[in-house]
Amino acid sequence: MARLAQTAGLTDIQQEILSTVRDFVDKEIIPVATGLEHRDEYPQAIVDGLKELGLFGLMIPEEYGGLGESLLTYALCVEEIARGWMSVSGIINTHFIVAYMLKQHGTQEQKDHFLPRMAAGDIRGAFSMSEPGLGSDVSAITSKAVKDGDEYVLNGQKMWLTNGGTSSLVAVLVRSDEGHPEGTAPHKSMTTFLVEKEPGFGEVRPGLTIPGKIDKMGYKGVDTTELIMDGLRIPADRVLGGVTGRGFYQMMDGVEVGRVNVAARGCGVAQRAFELGVQYAQQRHTFGKPIAQHQAIQFKLAEMATKVEAAHAMMVNAARKKDSGERNDLEAGMAKYLASEYCKEVVEDAFRIHGGYGFSKEYEIERLYREAPMLLIGEGTAEIQKMIIGRRLLEEYRFQG
Ligand SMILES: Cc1cc2nc3c(=O)[nH]c(=O)nc-3n(C[C@H](O)[C@H](O)[C@H](O)COP(=O)(O)OP(=O)(O)OC[C@H]3O[C@@H](n4cnc5c(N)ncnc54)[C@H](O)[C@@H]3O)c2cc1C
Repeated sequence: MARLAQTAGLTDIQQEILSTVRDFVDKEIIPVATGLEHRDEYPQAIVDGLKELGLFGLMIPEEYGGLGESLLTYALCVEEIARGWMSVSGIINTHFIVAYMLKQHGTQEQKDHFLPRMAAGDIRGAFSMSEPGLGSDVSAITSKAVKDGDEYVLNGQKMWLTNGGTSSLVAVLVRSDEGHPEGTAPHKSMTTFLVEKEPGFGEVRPGLTIPGKIDKMGYKGVDTTELIMDGLRIPADRVLGGVTGRGFYQMMDGVEVGRVNVAARGCGVAQRAFELGVQYAQQRHTFGKPIAQHQAIQFKLAEMATKVEAAHAMMVNAARKKDSGERNDLEAGMAKYLASEYCKEVVEDAFRIHGGYGFSKEYEIERLYREAPMLLIGEGTAEIQKMIIGRRLLEEYRFQG
């Protein structure tokens, strides 16, 4: 089991962090995940444990109280956590993207104000681009901010906020035409606002309502919500980076590291599905022998393990590229695309290996089967990844004739 998805060249510190997280996953997440998921219950005890381990501050610089670790360390931790329960990795993911955006693009005052409490897990982040009428086409955002003295007034509706209820800081992308001449390209007239709010549902701040949890087929436990802004007043110093018109680029930067993260989640879920499949195949007998002894099942296991290995290698490559300071949009797009597709396939094969029992809620694979599809959509669908990959390839391999 331990042979798959190994990562060469890790430091002692990275190995120590990973072994602590793996231990936590085996003892505190796997035994309770399916029960919590079936009850759609927020995993408070697990979140408290992650806080104690310092995971909410894993990539936040040490000067702000975080562990200052690399994207690779972060992604490998996410892989472990998703192996236990994908929803838990979702709780960390939006927090991590918002912290990353603050670190990269925030003013000094914004970093000082938010990052230490984010590192401690006392402020938790959500990020919000999608609206009821758009997800892939971010440039079509209709929510709007209008300047009024030292404040902006925000109006509009947002959709699909992971951690929308439990977070206390939401990075919200809206259109802000203020200061930008008529005819400015859509992506140059967008601004990220740092919106502080009370955790919970209903009117969580004057002008800001989180209606309730969206009922989902999987990815339960973690709350996914809408967000309604109706005359929401935000001070000008809560524009990320202090300057309007940069929101699109800030969000895309965040989503790029988020894609490595989703790839890591695909790797973790696929690993768990393989573990469940390979174990079941040695216990279940048909025609006088364990099904693992039928060549058709062995071939399935071989394909599953090969996909687990390939996805892990691509995810690690994408994380290392970003850590080296290079642009990684191509590698992150490829890793996200491949890992999420392979995850779905490996989970389906493990489900088939379980025969009828895979359909029973008593077996963990039933939960994984409902969770894997979310990875095909979040942080950009397969089609969007292929658009990014294709565009980048044409830049790299420009026709020289
Ligand atoms: C559980 C969950 C959690 C989420 N969490 C968040 C979050 O925290 N924050 C947030 O902002 N968003 C979040 N999202 C939204 C997610 O990012 C979007 O659902 C996703 O980007 C797809 O957008 P869409 O649903 O509007 O689909 P659409 O954009 O309407 O796409 C529909 C279909 O058309 C395809 N398509 C679209 N454009 C093209 C094209 N040009 N060429 C070819 N095919 C195309 C897509 O690939 C897809 O198959 C979440 C979604 C889910 C389900």
